Amino acid sequence: MNKEIIVQKFGGSSVANIERIKNVARRVVATKTKFNHVVVVVSALGDTTDELEAMAFQLSKNPTDREMDMLMSTGEQISCALLAIAIKGLGKNSISFTGGQVGIITDTSHTHARIQKIDAKRIRKALDENKIVIVTGYQGITEENDITTLGRGGSDLTAVALAQTLKANVCEIYTDVDGIYTTDPRIVQEARKIKVITFDEMLEMASLGAQVMQARSIEVAKRFNIPLHVRSSFSKEEGTMIVQDNEKLEEVAVRGVTCNKSEAKITICAVPDKPGAASKIFTWLAKAGINVDTIVQNISHDRQRTDISFTVPDAQFTKALATTKKIAQKIGAGEILDDQEIARVSVVGSGMRSHPGIAAKMFQTLADNKINIDMITTSEISISCIINYKHTDKAVRALHKKFNLGQI
Ligand code: ASP
Ligand code: MG
Repeated sequence: MNKEIIVQKFGGSSVANIERIKNVARRVVATKTKFNHVVVVVSALGDTTDELEAMAFQLSKNPTDREMDMLMSTGEQISCALLAIAIKGLGKNSISFTGGQVGIITDTSHTHARIQKIDAKRIRKALDENKIVIVTGYQGITEENDITTLGRGGSDLTAVALAQTLKANVCEIYTDVDGIYTTDPRIVQEARKIKVITFDEMLEMASLGAQVMQARSIEVAKRFNIPLHVRSSFSKEEGTMIVQDNEKLEEVAVRGVTCNKSEAKITICAVPDKPGAASKIFTWLAKAGINVDTIVQNISHDRQRTDISFTVPDAQFTKALATTKKIAQKIGAGEILDDQEIARVSVVGSGMRSHPGIAAKMFQTLADNKINIDMITTSEISISCIINYKHTDKAVRALHKKFNLGQI
């Protein structure tokens, strides 16, 4: 018996050229024999979105967000139409829509808009007419009919939001890797595909450097409990299921190791050690739009001065440094040190909640490899160390081995 409805999302690399678009079209047509209704969400071809962005910056240092959305949203319109054309070429009925056409209404925050509601009337009508529906990922429209985009990687969010609205039975995320791995297979040969992972673990891994899915889309999938299947568009093999906690999950303390080299560290020395100093610093940084991550404050020996270090994304480093220098002057702090040669390595796993000693084991592993730890942060299900970026690969390999991730 045919199942009801499936949402399939294909990433940019899956539709990067004509051959790959044909491949996706064949796959979608095959899916239609198993499901009554098929809705497909596509990203822009290959690196189109990056290329469009680069063109804008050749014309202006500061293009407005509204025009950027107008521009960046066009990539998906191309892939969407081409896929519908390819599917029709295979003799199946298909129709392409933009996010606006299918009623994906967002707020007005251009370049990182939030979906407010989806009416999906046109999708339902087209499905009832037995058409395969193709929708542009990554975009919606405001109440005033301005095109908006949902933030980079936003096609994942389109897919999850449509799966929720249409009460889809299955939501598949197709990409160029065959699932979520215990760590980056380019760094560790023994990296292993994870069969089942929780939303929380995936969210943590995505925000700590794993780049398979957009973090916001996982948040939404978690909120509405929409299981996701991340798999490759180039093979038939099963990928990774992302699910709410369940008993079927293997009992392990550490599910994966991630790393991120695109952060920098800033230290403000000799901050007057009195109430309100940290509040001032981080309020001003927030006002400047800087995303501060790990923060460490050192004890002051004389109880009068203290050093405060924090990390920021590489992309915001110049702005963050300039802002910090101004702040330091205003509050009478000392010199500013900076270090762009840092990396964050993290271990992630829900099992940490019930397995003590994971942090100690991580620190010991780094020590055994003569890797100095600069800063440490933890969440309920992750531990991160900031180290010198030269040691990143070595640290990842050693941790992957220590926690037996290649063998489970
Ligand atoms: N094409 C958009 C981007 O590159 C959206 C997506 O791929 O999900 O960010
Ligand atoms: Mg993408």
